[in-house]
Amino acid sequence: MGIMNLNLRRYYNQPIRYESLSQHVRAITEQWAKDNLYCPHCGRGLKQYKAGTPIYDFYCTHPNGSLVVLPIENFQLKSSQKYPFINKILGGDYKTTVASLKSHTHPSLILLGYERKRWKVENVDLVHKLSITLSCIEPRKKLSKTAVRHGWQGCNIVLDKIPAISFIEVVKDSNIIDKCTVMRRWKHLTNILSGNLAERGWLADMIKCIENLPGTFSLIDVYAYETKLASLHPKNKHVKDKIRQQLQKLRDRGVIKFIGNGEYKKIV
Ligand SMILES: [Zn+2]
Repeated sequence: MGIMNLNLRRYYNQPIRYESLSQHVRAITEQWAKDNLYCPHCGRGLKQYKAGTPIYDFYCTHPNGSLVVLPIENFQLKSSQKYPFINKILGGDYKTTVASLKSHTHPSLILLGYERKRWKVENVDLVHKLSITLSCIEPRKKLSKTAVRHGWQGCNIVLDKIPAISFIEVVKDSNIIDKCTVMRRWKHLTNILSGNLAERGWLADMIKCIENLPGTFSLIDVYAYETKLASLHPKNKHVKDKIRQQLQKLRDRGVIKFIGNGEYKKIV
């Protein structure tokens, strides 16, 4: 892995003939990601899973030598000529997805926007796996009885339900973002959203609400999202208590500051 090169054309002429343009694009962008992207946790190049591995495209096992055994970091690549991406991207099997969220094995997403006339990568965002929670997973209709895989149920990942802070820019409008900045943001997000699925689900939804508020806001402003938060967390019957508790957590994790009299200030 050398300096990032946004040119895709050099991957265009491959010996294999692809059945469709989308398959060809897939092969081109995968090659590009393998040669140019890096693990945002440790900075080393990504390794590619063998073709046909469900959900996962790339991984990193991080360097050895630390006393703490770090879990493998998995990534899924999504490419599109439309950037920003259309709001809903196709996920996998619904039940498997929910199980992978619970066990923290869902991959982080690599959203790659490219331009096909010049074959250039223009935008790359990393969506941190911890920010993918039940709130952004939308079950799709089960396949009909006549379908080959009848009864199968897929899901969508709804991007605008994920906090904006979770989209870490690696390439922005053809500008390559400094690697240290990307790694710092990744680490910060890992700290903010740590916890089990229910905990990080609440934190991500709270951040999403706060992102709509001005730099300084009040508890009343956040309470305005009570109904919305209650609908996302139907099992919780004490949403106001939960909101106050989450604000404390967000303060402890360096997202907001308490400035007194029920007022808060964003610091991220
Ligand atoms: Zn790594």
